[in-house]
Amino acid sequence: MSRFIQAVLALVMVAAPSVRAGEVVVGTNAEFMPFEYTDDDNNIIGYDIDVINAVGRAGGFDVRIHNQSFDTLVEGLETGKLDAVISGMTITEARREKIDFSEPYYNAAQVLVVQEKTPGYEKIGDIEGKVVGVQLGTTGAGMAEEVMGENNPDLKQFRKYNEVFSELRIGRIDAIVVDLPVARAYVDKIPGIRISSPPMSEEEYGIAVRKGNAELLAKVNAGLKAIHESGEYDEITAKWFQN
Ligand code: GLN
Repeated sequence: MSRFIQAVLALVMVAAPSVRAGEVVVGTNAEFMPFEYTDDDNNIIGYDIDVINAVGRAGGFDVRIHNQSFDTLVEGLETGKLDAVISGMTITEARREKIDFSEPYYNAAQVLVVQEKTPGYEKIGDIEGKVVGVQLGTTGAGMAEEVMGENNPDLKQFRKYNEVFSELRIGRIDAIVVDLPVARAYVDKIPGIRISSPPMSEEEYGIAVRKGNAELLAKVNAGLKAIHESGEYDEITAKWFQN
């Protein structure tokens, strides 16, 4: 083979988005600060990204992150496009019917966020009759639907939290139902909004795999256990969460 053809082949191989053997394609929605989001250079960073890379190192697999909308992650596992998901995803019975979860790796809860000047909104029932923003396909969306009804036009479902929070800031929605750590991150960043409720649910995040993929699930759980024992899990948690 000529050197030229060799060089062309090498280039094609680099350019093709092929997955290396042993590489695990991990879906996430990088819209969930501080768990997964993009920095100014468009790198995907966050707590979950550090966790899955550490779990992969300890559990014996390479990680390739794939960014997509949150409401398509479960389907991505079901169709085989993704091998795993880490995306601040709460372990729920409904999701367990379609995918398998690792041991829990983080505890969270839903809260309400409103404009600073808005009084009240201390419990989920307070959103009745209001205009509310959520992210599509989330447990927060589910909680809001229980109060407001599934096809309520006043329940605005967005793909990006950045949009949900900017709608709140300009007053187009009255309140947001969102996970507490994410609410904290946005309240720190955006002036004039506040968390108005105590935690309203008890949720645990898990790393998901395709249903029945016991081999990968065992590696993920072994990796999680190892990083707990080595102290790496605590280091990552301290890096991203001050409290
Ligand atoms: N924890 C919530 C859920 O699982 C929200 C996750 C997210 O928006 N990334 O539905």
